[in-house]
Amino acid sequence: MAKSRIALIAHDQMKDRMIEWAEKHRAQLVQCDIVSTGTTGGRIIERCPELQITRMKSDPLGSDQKIGALIAEGRIDGLVFFVDPLSPHPHDVDVKALPRLALVYNIPMAYNPSTAELVVAGYMATR
Ligand code: PGA
Repeated sequence: MAKSRIALIAHDQMKDRMIEWAEKHRAQLVQCDIVSTGTTGGRIIERCPELQITRMKSDPLGSDQKIGALIAEGRIDGLVFFVDPLSPHPHDVDVKALPRLALVYNIPMAYNPSTAELVVAGYMATR
């Protein structure tokens, strides 16, 4: 079976939650090809060095758009993006464009930790 390709992104105030989530699910994530924004990916690799992560630039510098392009090309199977709803973001338009593409291409997406738990549970149920 081909590896799942997932994108992981977390805003600054949500990065600790993303690291916790990745560590908890490292046995599943090690079976995936992961694409991540720069800082998020770096933090995950520090904690889980066995994971295969392709790191892009930092999100505010355009990596949301690069990940959106990968979704449009059919190269992403799932999106986990821990959004901080309580802080302003200079790249807000890019942040809002990603769920739209995930909807257009009907890929699973989780925008908070509780939904990400459900996505992993569903993924495990299909394996
Ligand atoms: P980063 O990008 O992982 O490079 O910090 C995510 C963000 O903060 O938007």
